[in-house]
Amino acid sequence: MNENEFTQEDWRRLLRHLGENPDRQGLRDTPQRVDKAWQHWVSGYQQDPAEILKVFEDGAEKYNELIVVRGIPVYSHCEHHLAPFFGTATIGYTPNGKIVGLSKLTRLVECFSKRLQVQERLTMQIAESFMTHVQPLSIGVVIRCRHMCMESRGIRTPGQETITSALLGEMQSNLGLRTEFLALAREKD
Ligand SMILES: [Zn+2]
Repeated sequence: MNENEFTQEDWRRLLRHLGENPDRQGLRDTPQRVDKAWQHWVSGYQQDPAEILKVFEDGAEKYNELIVVRGIPVYSHCEHHLAPFFGTATIGYTPNGKIVGLSKLTRLVECFSKRLQVQERLTMQIAESFMTHVQPLSIGVVIRCRHMCMESRGIRTPGQETITSALLGEMQSNLGLRTEFLALAREKD
């Protein structure tokens, strides 16, 4: 067994540490369930953005206007508390001959969000990997999330969102483009 592997007994110890009795009915299968759930929540470590973005769609050779996709689901866990944070991402880009399907954008967001994260780095990683592998003229990513570690402890009002953005390429130099993208990203999904 891998020395980093968490055993059933480790999860049982955690339950005892939380003040519980791991042998009571409702908790008997919890170690296996939690283990399986966590494998899913951090499955992004096994995904490669280069692999996700290597297939392009045809027909975009002459299209160089802004493409914006909103409402891409984000489910992640903060690396400071292992608590969930979740919300949506908006991705906008101006292609340079290559466009990608919606499912690729969803998978790219999953690849980085299904890891232990901070929202700022998550936002930047999505923008940078898209820039590297698709090479658009510009890329912008805006993420709005609710953080359970803050809301549940009363640091934030319930429902309050944290908004982060990363703008690369012409989004940095072209004020009109940046304004257009941010206005579209600001509207509620
Ligand atoms: Zn946190």
